[in-house]
Amino acid sequence: WDTFTDEKRKKHFPKIEIAVARMTSLLDDVLFIGRTDSNKATFTPKLLNIKQYCLDVIEEVSVIGYGANRVEFTYEGSVETIMADDKLLRHILVNLLSNALKYSPQSEMIEFTVQSLPERVVFGVKDHGIGIPKEEQPRLFEVFHRATNVGNIQGTGLGLSIVKRSVVLHGGTIDVESAEGVGTTFRVELPTQQA
Ligand code: ATP
Ligand code: MG
Repeated sequence: WDTFTDEKRKKHFPKIEIAVARMTSLLDDVLFIGRTDSNKATFTPKLLNIKQYCLDVIEEVSVIGYGANRVEFTYEGSVETIMADDKLLRHILVNLLSNALKYSPQSEMIEFTVQSLPERVVFGVKDHGIGIPKEEQPRLFEVFHRATNVGNIQGTGLGLSIVKRSVVLHGGTIDVESAEGVGTTFRVELPTQQA
């Protein structure tokens, strides 16, 4: 603080803040991959109000950027409070939503749907973005794998492998449907115990 002028602080502090956030998130990702690789990741379910939880996640991705007012949220459900692992669920939803926002134009909406049923919860994240080439879809969930059509959109290729591991730890399934230049839909289904 003392060594910078006010002008320099205004110029550099926001950059430092972004760099710290990026580094923290990268460290979190790498640690999570390491923990799952050594079978040390845990599944710890607790009571969650699923609708409120999703609204909080949307707010969280808005901080990351890419314009979260682009997320159109639809909640349908008979079961409001479910047993789920909030950390794993957060990995799943934050990564899918930030991918949808990141790999589609600012002018396009993202459809985020949640169906909370008595024994399962189904999440859908649909975008109208760059899509994923058919032949590359089978390798999406591998660590560091990025498709060839990403251009200069930044990423490390860790997000979806974290999503996949989180879904598996939760005993669920994940599917993707995508066409290059049209858009992508991820669908995650997790079994839930009723509260
Ligand atoms: P990060 O680790 O920062 O998330 P990333 O976004 O490149 O980096 P993943 O989230 O693992 O990595 O995604 C892997 C690859 O899958 C991406 O690089 C991109 O090629 C493709 N991909 C994922 N989601 C989408 C999407 N919604 N639309 C188009 N391509 C996608
Ligand atoms: Mg990603």
